[in-house]
Amino acid sequence: ASTPLLAVNNIEVIYDHVILVLKGVSLAVPEGGIVALLGANGAGKTTTLKAVSNLLGAERGDVTKGAIHFRGERVDQLTPAELVRRGVVQVMEGRHCFAHLSIEENLLTGAYTQALSRSELRDALERVYHYFPRLKERRASQAGYTSGGEQQMCAIGRAIMARPAMILLDEPSMGLAPQIVEQIFEIVKDLNVRERISFLLAEQNTMVALRYADFGYILENGRVVMEGSAQALGSNEDVKEFYLGLA
Ligand code: ATP
Repeated sequence: ASTPLLAVNNIEVIYDHVILVLKGVSLAVPEGGIVALLGANGAGKTTTLKAVSNLLGAERGDVTKGAIHFRGERVDQLTPAELVRRGVVQVMEGRHCFAHLSIEENLLTGAYTQALSRSELRDALERVYHYFPRLKERRASQAGYTSGGEQQMCAIGRAIMARPAMILLDEPSMGLAPQIVEQIFEIVKDLNVRERISFLLAEQNTMVALRYADFGYILENGRVVMEGSAQALGSNEDVKEFYLGLA
């Protein structure tokens, strides 16, 4: 088999030197894949994404065991900015747009690591507006006054400005109406197919995630307890009983 785009191998994460939260998590994202990381609140999904993008430092978290490879190269010692330059970008839970900046200004901040020329910036913006026409309409609005769905779009759009190979997307459905969730997942699928962006997507909304993902992992208590194709997981009786009911 070919080398996966992202390979997480048996990582352990400890917070504050004592709280063992990930107890040996392994997963892979193939080039061009959409992989769902599923599980209940507190299972360790966010921690796994932050371990990959090296954002645990701010939370007093450490990867104490295991390895993370991107395109076959070891990346677990790289800074978040170096990871962005290599094409790994995280969209954090809760969206995190700059409330006082306009939508367009927020998008432009996404490109700052890439040192783009004016015309490249223009092209990058147009590309985002192509996938998110709603953001084009709202480009001059202060992000803090836009809807939850628009802010989620803004956060994903900002990630795209960095021209990523892979987006780590944390809980995109959180707090959004089902119809908006569907719109956002459709755009994710579109970006996957047409821009060849791979996704590792943490979701509590198992039902929706499995409809758009190719493959899924279920985390429980810091361990992968089940993995399989989205189709196999979606039709598995245990998964249906324990997780689909939660969505
Ligand atoms: P959520 O849906 O809330 O994001 P999750 O599956 O992403 O859930 P994590 O946020 O990764 O789960 O949390 C996993 C465990 O780690 C939880 O028990 C949580 O309380 C604990 N935890 C998270 N952040 C910290 C921290 N900074 N310090 C100590 N413990 C933490």
